Amino acid sequence: MTTQHHQNSPHPTKPPTIQALSMGAGVQSSALLLMSAQGLLPKLDYAAFADTGWERPETYAALDRLENEVAKPAGIEIVRLSAGDIRRDALDPNSRFSTMPMFIKNRDGSKGMLRRQCTSTYKIKILLAEARRRLGAEVFDDGRIGRVKRSQHLNMWVGISSDEFHRAKDSGVKYAVNTFPLLELGLTRADTQAYLDSHGFAAVSKSACVGCPYTSNAGWRNLRDNHPEQWNQAVEFDHAIREGSARANANGRPLLGQAFLHPSLQPLDSASIDAPPKRRHLRLVGADEADNWEDGDPDGCSPWACRSGRPETPPGSSEVAA
Ligand code: SF4
Repeated sequence: MTTQHHQNSPHPTKPPTIQALSMGAGVQSSALLLMSAQGLLPKLDYAAFADTGWERPETYAALDRLENEVAKPAGIEIVRLSAGDIRRDALDPNSRFSTMPMFIKNRDGSKGMLRRQCTSTYKIKILLAEARRRLGAEVFDDGRIGRVKRSQHLNMWVGISSDEFHRAKDSGVKYAVNTFPLLELGLTRADTQAYLDSHGFAAVSKSACVGCPYTSNAGWRNLRDNHPEQWNQAVEFDHAIREGSARANANGRPLLGQAFLHPSLQPLDSASIDAPPKRRHLRLVGADEADNWEDGDPDGCSPWACRSGRPETPPGSSEVAA
């Protein structure tokens, strides 16, 4: 089969020559990598994993395994990209920090949520910068990557299954045309999981930061019970960001309220993660997410398809990486 562009995408003037995969190491992107390696889909030129520096251990393990057992034998390059370490950046007064969607207890006692900037900074922007680099854009001495010629573009594969077609979105730029091979194949999430199961990849995890506020209670329990080191990191982080990021405080702009990782507005180590959170704690994330909160988003933090919370503003037409 060939990959086709999303119906709302700009119509390219000539066929794309680069096939790229937005790789989160979750079920859907892992299946796309495997399908390409097996010749069921066109050969990928590369698969890009945007590393926030604070991913769960099982995500790094899944990525290593996919690289060694699937990508390398098929001659597909896995490139690991980084815009920094999201945890360190939040705690370092000298680092720029893009806010995570933390739950806020305002001074009047009302509840709020910080705007999610992290997916754009730590994932989308660097995936697009890599796309421009692959398309021949100039790389400046300071590492920034310039514009691509108007006619150039590549196909960016995004893992969306047919039961979730409404999550398919454009990339927001003309030079990266989001494509959805699982949609074109009509494969559901269950089909995709069954395909992975049949090839020995039953336990593929999802990509998400250790301390992501969108973590479900089940996710927090998994961290507490199976990954004590990362659980302790999250607990320490939760306490450390109570008054906002270190840089904001150093600049005399403390948070007007208190920040929490858990929607109950309780410190993570005393929040009731063994019981379903009350719906009134979840009203900021929407009804669908509230229903899912016990198990959480099955796909974690997908750059263009995250179901968690309000969508981020796409990076638009800016073509120079921050
Ligand atoms: S997993 Fe959560 S904290 Fe990490 S980049 Fe995605 S939305 Fe932000």
